[in-house]
Amino acid sequence: MKQGLLLAAACAGILGCAGSSGAPPTAADAKTFLDTVNDTTKRLGVEQNRAGWVQQTFITDDTEALSARANQLAIDAAARFAKDAVKFDKVEVPTDQRRQLTLLKVGLVLATPADPKESEELTKTMARLESSYGKGKWCPDPNKPDTCKTIDDVTKVMATSRNEKELRAAWEGWHTISPPMRNDYTRFVTLSNKGARELGFADTGAMWRAKYDMTPDEFMKELDRLWDQVRPLYLKLHAYTRLRLREKYGDIVPANGPIPAHLLGNIWAQDWTNIYPLVAPPHADPGYSLTDILKKRNMPPLDMVRTGERFYSSLGFAVLPKTFWERSLFTRPRDRDVVCHASAWNIDVEEDIRIKMCIEQTAEDFTTIHHELGHNYYQRAYRIQPVLFRDSANDGFHEAIGDTIALSVTPEYLVKIGLLDKAPDASRDLGLLMNKALEKIAFLPFGLLIDQWRWKVFSGEVKPADYNQAWWQLRLKYQGIAPPSARGEEFFDPGAKYHVPDNTPYTRYFLADILQFQFHRALSKTAGCTLPLNRCSIYESKPAGQKLNTMMSMGQSRPWPDALDALTGEKQMDATAILDYFAPLSKWLDEQLAGKPVGW
Ligand SMILES: [Zn+2]
Repeated sequence: MKQGLLLAAACAGILGCAGSSGAPPTAADAKTFLDTVNDTTKRLGVEQNRAGWVQQTFITDDTEALSARANQLAIDAAARFAKDAVKFDKVEVPTDQRRQLTLLKVGLVLATPADPKESEELTKTMARLESSYGKGKWCPDPNKPDTCKTIDDVTKVMATSRNEKELRAAWEGWHTISPPMRNDYTRFVTLSNKGARELGFADTGAMWRAKYDMTPDEFMKELDRLWDQVRPLYLKLHAYTRLRLREKYGDIVPANGPIPAHLLGNIWAQDWTNIYPLVAPPHADPGYSLTDILKKRNMPPLDMVRTGERFYSSLGFAVLPKTFWERSLFTRPRDRDVVCHASAWNIDVEEDIRIKMCIEQTAEDFTTIHHELGHNYYQRAYRIQPVLFRDSANDGFHEAIGDTIALSVTPEYLVKIGLLDKAPDASRDLGLLMNKALEKIAFLPFGLLIDQWRWKVFSGEVKPADYNQAWWQLRLKYQGIAPPSARGEEFFDPGAKYHVPDNTPYTRYFLADILQFQFHRALSKTAGCTLPLNRCSIYESKPAGQKLNTMMSMGQSRPWPDALDALTGEKQMDATAILDYFAPLSKWLDEQLAGKPVGW
């Protein structure tokens, strides 16, 4: 996760925005406007980052209020600047300035309508939606408030319970938090669409799709193309998982229909790693546990971070600044509440990079450190750009970089850095690959469908009276998942996923999932790796580091296909790298599924 970046167009202050008086705006006005926007964006972004950092590392009512205020200033300014940028639509300006003006317009996630009453109503509606999710609890017995369950409690049940009744109760229980959101969500759609139309977009969904250096329609086709590439592999994983779940749970899992949504180890069925023990290939135990090794050596959290830093140094990147070590948060403080969810920050939008994590001696945290540092090195690489270009090439790239590096945390890498004596032989790869497939392949259709639903909702193709039905149609179509019980329009199941009430676009996670394998394949090739792709690590490859740095230092100054080209030599996103990476698993699945039903 990445935090503390600028909003795409945060800016504020009473600006003498060009074009506001009688005379038509000129190229000189555009330049003045952009200079002011870049300066103010930085100033407000830094304030937002500082307030956000303090709030998350010292949670009190006061720090929350200060952070909320800094956010509001930045959001208001971003909205104002998006509107002001429109005034220069017909002015001839240099290419890089045109790109900055365009980014201002397409950078918003939410456009508030010009009417102050409607704008205020929208802001309040959003706040209500967010807090209904944040405060959402499942209360099995309303008379005993002590027994109410938070999302953390529900997550734990879904991850660990193998009792169908218990899982069903938790699944249905969590989905009781969202029906009250339905009216607010409907109103939010109407008002946010109005704001988007005032900026010249057909609706909010079209505004979201406009930021990918192609038309909204072209982008939708691009996603279909990528999904078609990986769908056959997903179908196999789905079919095999269904087979094993049927052995475990019996007829409740159909032989050739969709999998019930509550049996996959995750409340949204978006990550299936928790049910690994149910689907593990036999005799594929990798023979070592990184968590055990870290614990046995009692490796301090700081050493784990130093190990991550050494990875990037081995690629040729400069060491982390002194302030990184002084200002980051590495462990859970004993005396105060903090947000422990791992994140990477660039507080001053220059060199003040930090991570915030509550590091434990686990394999997961070891990998997460490599991931978070990826954000930091990316942030530092693009600081040479004008402020408005200091972000990833498209919003999938930032998450993809950290994950790309995490893919290089292979057994061979662990051997090289002295954590493992000997890498297990290739016959053990199936276990590692299955585990990764349950995370990365299982996620793909989910990563796609959240916005497929929202785009139809924003465009009006799906009416409020059909919200829930459309949601389940898409979950069936893409994921092959069905609800454990009938879900009519008295429910509002999309609202039980954080990113819907929070209004965070989701396609970026789908893109990141695809891109990280494409990056990994290209960099492994540059590094001269001749092993199977899942065994390649780019550790110690200066040429791979060079390519990574060229791409990262471009920020979003150029259309993303150019950035992709700099790293991979390809201008198109390509999901076939996923197929290459999982080839041994795919072959094994074919053998297991011979004569068995695939699809639903
Ligand atoms: Zn991340």
